Amino acid sequence: MRMITFFLVGLTVHVVFFFSIFDIYFTSPLVHGMTPKNTPLTPPASRLVLFVGDGLRADSLFTLLQNGSSRAPYLRSVIEDKGTWGVSHTRVPTESRPGHVALIAGFYEDVSAVAKGWKENPVEFDSVFNESRHTWCWGSPDILPMFAKGASGDHVYTHTYPAEEEDFASTDASRLDSWVFTQVKSFFQSAKSNSSLRASLLEDKNVLFLHLLGIDTNGHAHRPMSQEYLDNIALVDTGVAELVSIVEDFFGHDGRTAYVFTSDHGMTNWGSHGAGHPSETLTPLVVWGAGVQKAHRVTEPQPYDDGFLQDWKLEHLRRVDVNQADIATLMASLIGVPIPVNSVGVLPLLYLNNTDQFKAESLYTNAIQILEQFKMKMIQKKETTLSFLFTPYPLLTESKQAEFTHKARILIQLEKYEDAISLCQSLISHALEGLVYYHTYDRFFLGCSVVLGFVGWTSYVVLIILKTHASLNRHPSLLKQVVSFFHRAMLTVGLAVLSLWPFLSGIFGKAKVTYDVCLHSACAGLLTLFTSACYMWSSRQRAPLHLSDRQQFVTQMLHVTVCAYVPYLTHSSLQQKQGLPLLNQIISWATLASSMVVPLLSSTRIFHRLLSIFLSLTATYLLLSTGSEALFPPVLSWLMFVWINIEQEAMLAQGVSGRQELSTIDFSANIDITKIRQLKLDDIRRSYFFVFFIITAFFGTGNIASINSFDPASVYCFLTVFNPFIMGGLMMWKVIIPFIIVMCSFETIQVATQLSSRSLFLIVLVISDLMALMNTTISQSMQTTAMTHQLVKNKYHSALLVIYSVVLLTGTISLSLMIYIMKSNIKSVTSIAVLNLIFTHFIFLLTVPFRIYYYCAHKWIFSMGWCKTVSSMIHTHMYMSFIFYVIILIMRLMAFYNKDQWISCFQRIHALLVSAVVWIVVLVTVPCITAFSYGKRQGGHENNSTHCFQFGKDIEIARVFNYITSTVIIVVAIVLTALQANVFRILYRKDRHGCTSQQQDFGAQFKSLCFALIMVICFIPYHMFRLYYIDNIDSMQEINEVFLSMTTFNCLDMLTFMGRRTCYRCCPGKI
Ligand SMILES: [Zn+2]
Ligand SMILES: [Zn+2]
Repeated sequence: MRMITFFLVGLTVHVVFFFSIFDIYFTSPLVHGMTPKNTPLTPPASRLVLFVGDGLRADSLFTLLQNGSSRAPYLRSVIEDKGTWGVSHTRVPTESRPGHVALIAGFYEDVSAVAKGWKENPVEFDSVFNESRHTWCWGSPDILPMFAKGASGDHVYTHTYPAEEEDFASTDASRLDSWVFTQVKSFFQSAKSNSSLRASLLEDKNVLFLHLLGIDTNGHAHRPMSQEYLDNIALVDTGVAELVSIVEDFFGHDGRTAYVFTSDHGMTNWGSHGAGHPSETLTPLVVWGAGVQKAHRVTEPQPYDDGFLQDWKLEHLRRVDVNQADIATLMASLIGVPIPVNSVGVLPLLYLNNTDQFKAESLYTNAIQILEQFKMKMIQKKETTLSFLFTPYPLLTESKQAEFTHKARILIQLEKYEDAISLCQSLISHALEGLVYYHTYDRFFLGCSVVLGFVGWTSYVVLIILKTHASLNRHPSLLKQVVSFFHRAMLTVGLAVLSLWPFLSGIFGKAKVTYDVCLHSACAGLLTLFTSACYMWSSRQRAPLHLSDRQQFVTQMLHVTVCAYVPYLTHSSLQQKQGLPLLNQIISWATLASSMVVPLLSSTRIFHRLLSIFLSLTATYLLLSTGSEALFPPVLSWLMFVWINIEQEAMLAQGVSGRQELSTIDFSANIDITKIRQLKLDDIRRSYFFVFFIITAFFGTGNIASINSFDPASVYCFLTVFNPFIMGGLMMWKVIIPFIIVMCSFETIQVATQLSSRSLFLIVLVISDLMALMNTTISQSMQTTAMTHQLVKNKYHSALLVIYSVVLLTGTISLSLMIYIMKSNIKSVTSIAVLNLIFTHFIFLLTVPFRIYYYCAHKWIFSMGWCKTVSSMIHTHMYMSFIFYVIILIMRLMAFYNKDQWISCFQRIHALLVSAVVWIVVLVTVPCITAFSYGKRQGGHENNSTHCFQFGKDIEIARVFNYITSTVIIVVAIVLTALQANVFRILYRKDRHGCTSQQQDFGAQFKSLCFALIMVICFIPYHMFRLYYIDNIDSMQEINEVFLSMTTFNCLDMLTFMGRRTCYRCCPGKI
């Protein structure tokens, strides 16, 4: 196949895959065409004041000071006396925009907003502001315009400060909040003299919205534990108190104003938000004023077991938690405007102080409004699906909808409000579930097609690699291979351990509050200088530096010293509130610019070029780091140096001819086509390491988090005024730097080992494709989890998902490889046993997709009988493969001890017959046993259950049997492995003394040893655990699933055949 065609096909596959992800996951949940619904009763409030303290954590507001007083005395008095309070639970992403959309429009903005840019409206949406008569807003220019733009007509008025005011390093960010309060005060002042403004203020259905960004800005700049953040909360509290009295005065204390105080998201201890940590998702909610329930004292314990009530000393006051979108519904109901049409909020009735009739009517409106969305979604899906394939949501068919609404209407007319309320609540929950059902309707099918297509593509690439580059059957010297294999395996372990270190230090470093900027950057700078000094000293003997090179290195080292010092200067000057020194800023930008040019000036000899690249990148990285991540590039480059050297050693050990001394290779050298060698197993390792290091580079800085949740502290050396584009660009560069280091090293290795870049590229492609596939599966589960928020999430599901995905992918690939190799090779009884093993794996792998789907969706949508079959298959697979391992091992051992005379009469035909009989027995009996014994203890509810694989209770029946089986398996596995190891040792000894006829055995026995080891690794941990588990079934069921899933890794046993093909002839003259 021509390279260009191949390239085009590959490109197409990846582009299709990429867009299919957008198509499947990033579709907007919004539907259009519903009409707003109104409650026919008079609302309790004429106007509503909404305060949003951006980035305010629930605990920061509610926790008392050491002396027992509150830092927000006014809001505390409201909670204690005249309002209702609770925790509002937000969803990921915990960013300002989605938070405000949930608060004000009542739906959870999904990821499609990311694809369309956060500043734009991804879709037109309805909001409480849009439904109001007039809305006046004050606050940040990032938030307000989107509601004004979304509103129809001209009744949303925004007052924003200029964007430059959001200076993270400004003396005090609480100025932003003071600005808002001052503006609102002068607004009411002017309304007294302005008669038209006064007239519109006196109308009903009005909203005033105060967006208070100071808390968020202070949290980012100084962390939420800082005095700045806490003082800002006090300032907001005072402002709220003043404003309430101004508003009340203006309207003559008419008791028609409702107040809502909340926040859009929380903040982590290190000043970021975006993810799903409780500190980010728990926000405060305090509601008081017209139509709101007054503080409700309780004596009995409240149904929240998170311990916050005790921490906040609020056990005596009723806490009412809500989901963030419920607040929109609450606000709409208080001032009597229609609920926003796309809202998924449920009216929190406990906040209302009103008649039962009002509550029932409002909830009825709420139910109808959500049902409308459901109907629209259903019509939409019906139109785009072939009619005979369409399965409507069973709990809410059209007749059931009509029945529900009719019944609710009648109950309200009969004044049976309690019954009407509970009926409406169940209607709402069905409609919400149905919305999710239709939103994810064809996701499973699409996902499967994409995954299958991708698996096909990957297998195809593997085949191409095998056909064109590999020489699987022609290894000259097995023993040497084995020895060098072990030799290098040791190195691999070392490397893996080495590489864990920066990874860990990066992760842990992130969690700390990073005021120790100076210490870390000084360390990193020293380490860098030390590295380059070492190199220059060592290269002095082998290949002396040119004068110009030496000058360049010395300059670069001086530069690194300066760059290690600049962050310290900057941060201390910022801490003293002196702003960003201009000199530092110039140095930073100059460094950034020069880092792209300077490496090109150095000589192209391999290590010189690498050192130069490394020095200039480290200098930039130092400027961009705030903590221990500064140590990452120096450590990474040490690692890279070790890697390059190890690969070189490996080449040496194999005695490849025509190689050069490493230090003399030219970096930009073209690879001599004639010297290109064939692909070997080593190259797979190289590519694997490459991908592995790339991932390390990605996670090492912990920088996905800092892009996502944005830690502006790391770009302070460059600029301090908020500017998303420049800041984002700098962050991207910081993320990319470790990648460049790894890439350059890989290029070095490629030049040094003289391999065609095409085949390495292909292998890297396969590995990264596999990982992309896994990623999608995992992100699918995340998505589903986010969608079905109310489902109880099982914390082990993600682990199981990853394990089964790996098993499915690698198992499929190794099976197809094995079949490719075995094709014409069914000679011996052992081969028949191996064939049986393949068949076992094959049947098991067929059931794995169902497991993966279950762990993605968190519910079992197939029949219970199928659940039992899938469930039993994993056990069948385990025992069957165990039996075949034992057979294979015993036959090898027999052959070795020359006891095969009685095997010889055991012909191939017999073996085939026996296997056939065994399979028939197994395939008949196992389903029977499962059907009868599984799920017996579950009781009657099994038909409705959406859970699967929870048959732990059933093994109690066969307790003793289980003990015996597990013990037997452990003992047999250990004994066989010991015997096999002994055989291998004997052979190894004999072999050292020259070429013997044992050659042939050696390979076979090595294979057997691998089998034995797989048996030990995969089966013994599980059975050890099982012995313990039988006594603790209730508490350990989930962990048992994880251990059980580990046993399925034995599907990879076929890989032991790869490249270890036996050498069937004697090769004289080796070792
Ligand atoms: Zn925010
Ligand atoms: Zn923020």
